[in-house]
Amino acid sequence: MFLGHMAVGLGAKKYAPRVSLGTLLLATQFIDLLWPIFLLLGLEHVRVEPGNTVVTPLNLYDYPYTHSLAGALVWAVLFALIYFWFRQSRRGAIVLGGVVFSHWVLDLVTHRPDLPLAPGVNAYFGWGLWNSFYGSLIVELALFVLGIMFFLRTSRAKDKVGVFAFWALMILLVAIAFGGYYGPPPSDPKAIGYVGLAAWLFVIWGYWIDRHRVAR
Ligand SMILES: [Zn+2]
Repeated sequence: MFLGHMAVGLGAKKYAPRVSLGTLLLATQFIDLLWPIFLLLGLEHVRVEPGNTVVTPLNLYDYPYTHSLAGALVWAVLFALIYFWFRQSRRGAIVLGGVVFSHWVLDLVTHRPDLPLAPGVNAYFGWGLWNSFYGSLIVELALFVLGIMFFLRTSRAKDKVGVFAFWALMILLVAIAFGGYYGPPPSDPKAIGYVGLAAWLFVIWGYWIDRHRVAR
């Protein structure tokens, strides 16, 4: 749920206006940003299997470190602690920890039961929204619109870059999401790893946007 995760990062600005959009996008994607690294290191595994669910052509059969409930909790706490260490903001740390964990909650709604309880534990969760093509698309777009509305209510552009950089990213994210829904499946797991790493770009883009905007 690519746009859904982005929506949480955008919307969370309302609850922690001083936290950069870059950090919020880092937090909301954090588990998916670690995932390609674990894939490329051979610690986690995925198979390209069109039809696994209606929406994703991926069989996410082994990703206990990034995507288990226990893993997500650990990453969320770690993220919050590191932020607090650097910025001394309790509010920012709590919101960011929540945003990191929100990734697992949204994945719980969308994935088939492939999210493990903990590494090495044979219990899996997933409510399977991805079995409905239009259900997934509508929920994701609705969340994304809400996220943008929350963000724009909290943040306004200082200059033209603050407007264009923001909307360019929003359009790119929607284009990528539609590519996922309507485009061909990826060629192989290695390609998924490398494309996944490219998502770090959105974090840098978020910091760029934030420099050209201020809190309302
Ligand atoms: Zn994920």
